[in-house]
Amino acid sequence: MTNHNENFETTLITASTRGDYETKTGAVNIPIYVSSTFDQEHFDSFGPFDYSRSGNPTRQALENTIAELEHGTRGFAFSSGIAAIASALLTLNAGDHIVITSEVYGGTYRFVTEVLPKYNITHTFADFSNLNEVEAAIQDNTKVLYAETPANPLLGITDLSGVIALAKKHQLKTFVDNTFMTPLYQKPLDLGADVILHSATKFLGGHSDIIAGLAVTKDEEIGNDIYFMQNSMGAILGAQDSFSLIQGIKTLNARLTLESASAEKIAHFLEKSDYVTAVHYPGLTSHPGHTTHFKQATSAGAVLSFELPSKEFTKVFVENVQIPIFAVSLGGVESILSYPVTMSHAAIPKEERDKRGITEGLLRLSVGLENVDDLIQDFEQAFAKAVEATAVK
Ligand SMILES: *Cc1c(COP(=O)(O)O)cnc(C)c1O
Repeated sequence: MTNHNENFETTLITASTRGDYETKTGAVNIPIYVSSTFDQEHFDSFGPFDYSRSGNPTRQALENTIAELEHGTRGFAFSSGIAAIASALLTLNAGDHIVITSEVYGGTYRFVTEVLPKYNITHTFADFSNLNEVEAAIQDNTKVLYAETPANPLLGITDLSGVIALAKKHQLKTFVDNTFMTPLYQKPLDLGADVILHSATKFLGGHSDIIAGLAVTKDEEIGNDIYFMQNSMGAILGAQDSFSLIQGIKTLNARLTLESASAEKIAHFLEKSDYVTAVHYPGLTSHPGHTTHFKQATSAGAVLSFELPSKEFTKVFVENVQIPIFAVSLGGVESILSYPVTMSHAAIPKEERDKRGITEGLLRLSVGLENVDDLIQDFEQAFAKAVEATAVK
């Protein structure tokens, strides 16, 4: 086990390189236990593993790692971020209600609005940057406040301590989607949150090679509830992907520190550009959540979004950018440029999108590990092409 004085960067490595549970070979990489079942040595006392849906040593190494990194007591690995979120929300009962941020991830929006109502678990959306609005949405049957910060795609910030204080006042649980920050930069359990959720597909994995989700708890009862749901729903992460995710986590600090420094430089470049009408990045003092964000997190991270003058300008820009891939997702070693209107937020009606500021000129950028000056040069040449093309017409 880890020494409590060690720094987070050290724990990223030690959390998973000290524990080949069963064979004690000293292997620094946890073996990939490709086994659905486990031979039981004794008739009337079973070993720690019996069936890999209920527990697998490779998955357990990952679950212990994320629990340690988030300062929790138990971790749970799922087949996707959405599987983690769904399984955590299904610990609720028919008749319960949740208050959820209106800037929530699209897949969570779909689950909460289209699946949970079938089980009579209802919801109210609220602007989580406004604590009065959050409190006003609480009902007698509310059980959970569900936050995501920074949020997608405008990087809206929720005051976690404020939301957690409201939850405690009304005896509710706080669930936090910590995908954008990761425990490198933000540890909501330390602030009093109850359940941490991750799309580990993003920064924790870091290489755009796996789909995975994680949940972390501190309290024993809610940990037992999520374990029960993980085993009952069965949306577990396989051993091979658990191994890949452990490898990804080891380089989290190295990747995200560089990516965040590059994102900050790009945000300043975009802010000064004549063609960019707005930049959304919590690291800029112009961002409305800047001060709140730095009360609860130690970096602005590697995702930002920015607005270009028109759909046409945006199209030519995207068609001429050479380095970033144009795709959904984020958090990879490659820079990823995405277009929320037709990608992550396509399911939201145009009126609602416009109201939220998700315009036809909005692009989201997840900054990768390429040389930042190459990226800036690439954007400059693509801006020049877009100016040329839109001026001709
Ligand atoms: C991607 C994402 C999810 C969903 O995770 P999957 O791994 O795609 O299922 C949830 N929350 C946030 C903030 C995300 O970016």
